[in-house]
Parts: sequence; C-alpha cells; structure tokens
Amino acid sequence: MGERTALRLGRVAGIEIRVDWSLLIIFSLISLSLGAGLFPAWHPDWSALLIWATAITAAVLFFGSVLLHELSHAVVGRANGIPIPRITLFMFGGMAHMEKEPPSWRAELYMAAIGPITSLVLGFLFLGLAKIVVGPVEIDPDNPQESFAALGPAVSLLIWLGPINIILGLFNLVPGFPLDGGRILRAALWGATGDLLTATRRASAVGQGFAWILMASGFLMILGLRVPIFGAGFINGLWIALIGWFLNNAAVVSYRQLLVHQWLEDVPVIRLMHTRFEPVSPQLSLQELVDDHVMPSGQRAFPVEERGRFIGMICLRDLPKRPRDAWRTTTVGDIMTPRHELVTLTPEQDAAAALDLFGKRDVNQLPVLKDGQVLGLVRREDILKWLSLHAGLPVTEGGRPASRPLG
Ligand SMILES: [Zn+2]
Repeated sequence: MGERTALRLGRVAGIEIRVDWSLLIIFSLISLSLGAGLFPAWHPDWSALLIWATAITAAVLFFGSVLLHELSHAVVGRANGIPIPRITLFMFGGMAHMEKEPPSWRAELYMAAIGPITSLVLGFLFLGLAKIVVGPVEIDPDNPQESFAALGPAVSLLIWLGPINIILGLFNLVPGFPLDGGRILRAALWGATGDLLTATRRASAVGQGFAWILMASGFLMILGLRVPIFGAGFINGLWIALIGWFLNNAAVVSYRQLLVHQWLEDVPVIRLMHTRFEPVSPQLSLQELVDDHVMPSGQRAFPVEERGRFIGMICLRDLPKRPRDAWRTTTVGDIMTPRHELVTLTPEQDAAAALDLFGKRDVNQLPVLKDGQVLGLVRREDILKWLSLHAGLPVTEGGRPASRPLG
C-alpha cells in the first residue's frame, strides 16, 4: 500500500492517523448501499435528505469504530513495548503499523486480542443503546417492514452499527495470520514452541488457507452461486474475493518479512557497506559537486568533511532544494543535512537494524560512523542485493520494506 497516497488526519495519543485515498471506495460503497438500499427499505416515508444524511453518518461512525479498534491495538501494543507510530485507514479497514515484532508471545497475545474485544464491546454497546432508546426492538416476522419504519434515525444507525461491529470482531477472530485471530494463534504457537519463525510460518499457512476460501467463495458468488455464510451477489462476491486476495498477500509478505529480518540479523553492516566513496568539502559549489563528483563517480550520497572531520551528508535528493541557476553560488555546506540531524549506524549494528531505519526514516543510504569518522556507506539497494544473492529472494515492492501490518 502506497504510504504516499495517504492523507494525515492528525494525532491521537501520539499516534499518527492517516487515511488512504482507497478508503473513499469502501466509504462510497457503504454510503450507497445504505442510502440507496437498506435505509429506503426500512423507511419508505423518509425524505431523501434524511436518508442520505443517516447513511453518510453511519459510514463515518463505522470508520470511527474501525479507528477505535486500531487505537486499542496501538495503545495496548505500546504498553507492551511495541512502538506503533501510525494507523492507516484504507479500503480493507484499518491497519496499525508496528515498528518491530512483539518482544514476547504474551505482548502479541494482549495486543492482538484487544482489537476484536473492542469491536465486540462496541457492537453490544450500540445495541444496548438502541434498546435503552426504544426498548427491545421486536421485529414482527409477518410484517418486519412496519417494525423498522417506526425507528428514528439515531436508532436506525445504532441497529446497523451494532451488528456490523460484532461481525467485524468475529471476522477478525478467524485464526488466519495476519488477522487478529491469526496473531492470537501465532502467540499461542510461539508460547508453545518458543520459536517465532515456526509459529509465524504455521499461522501464515492457516491465513493463506482462509484467504483462498474467501477467494474461492467470492469467485463462486461472482458466477451467481449462493455460498453458505457469505450469501450471494456479484458485488459482495467481488468484495470477498478482493479481501481474500489482500489477506493472502499480507500472510505471504508478513512471513517473508520476518524471514528476511532473521537473516539480516546475522549480517553486520560493515559487511555490506561501501568503503570506496569520495568525501566532499562544504565550500564546494553545487555545480562543482555535480560536474566533478556526481557525474564521474556515479555516487549519489557524499559525506561532507571539513579538515578531516565529518560534518554532514549531501545527496542527490538535496539538489532540487535550490533552483538550477543558483547552483554556482550555493555551496554544499548551505544545503547539506548537518551531522546532528542525520541518522547514522555504528559498525556493531546489523543489516536488519539498517533496513528498519531505511523504512522508518525514508532514506536510501546511511553512513556508518566510528569515532566521528565515516567508515562506509550502506545503501538500501546493497541490502536487497545481499538478500537476492545469499537468500535467493526476489527483490520486491521497489525495494521498499513494508512495516508490519496489524489488522
Ligand atoms: Zn485488529
């Protein structure tokens, strides 16, 4: 999922909330199915304005519920030592991004379980509220239409939101990794075997199995068949098949990510870094940098040194900070990233830590420093090259390691 297409909504409890543009698709689908389908059927006497206002409020409250589900993961995760910098809402719901794997199976268990619990509690809370407002809603089996027509907008909302949250909670409890239930399964296997990798492999296999069931069911529904539990209908089928496809991808990627991480933990950054690089002086003009250093060497990032002392880095991405006609009068020192703002590595760090930093800070190279001197430069592509040479792993996603998704 492209992080760059996401809109920042703000921060809650120090966690950044982002909305991906793809959320618009499901938001419109929900509003449409309620505004053009369910609510007019319940309330034939309502005005179009009231129907659409209720439908859109329902969709907003639904994503509010999804956000609460994700926030519960984030808050419990953080209390258990798992940093969660952001939550993204997108087409298939919400995703909390973990910066690293949970430190223990218990931490994973608590963090995973709280999500479905939150959804179930919300679901019963909404139904309870509806009951307080109108008393027990009794649907006359002979004339269900009339029972619904008597409900006001607020109760209609609650009666839709309650079950949808309960379904969300139950769906997330399916034991297929990376769904919450799959994480609970992984935590249990991890606790039982003591081995995170084995636990992830098995939970991911169950996750892929479930994903294939979804894809097959969706496909049958697209063909016009009725499938037990899932029902029938072209759009529903398409949707279920898409969710299956997404879950299958997530299950495969999550396992591979962990595998990559474990391989890289054994590789110190000094084995991957480039040691043949040219430092440049801060007095150099940008034009000289391009003509005399960038073009002949092919190097894209340069350590800046003054009298043998490392004071910052300049890379090709810094150049557009100044217009081309100012390159003769601007020096490297003017636009470089000074040392105190740089993310750097120490020779003792491993390639897994470097890969995490590349993802977290959105940089493509990191200097390795010892006693204030640059020993070498590690580039993102060098790690990916190492992986493809030593682990036979194809380089994917434009070489961009994804953060760990948590549903
Ligand atoms: Zn969840």
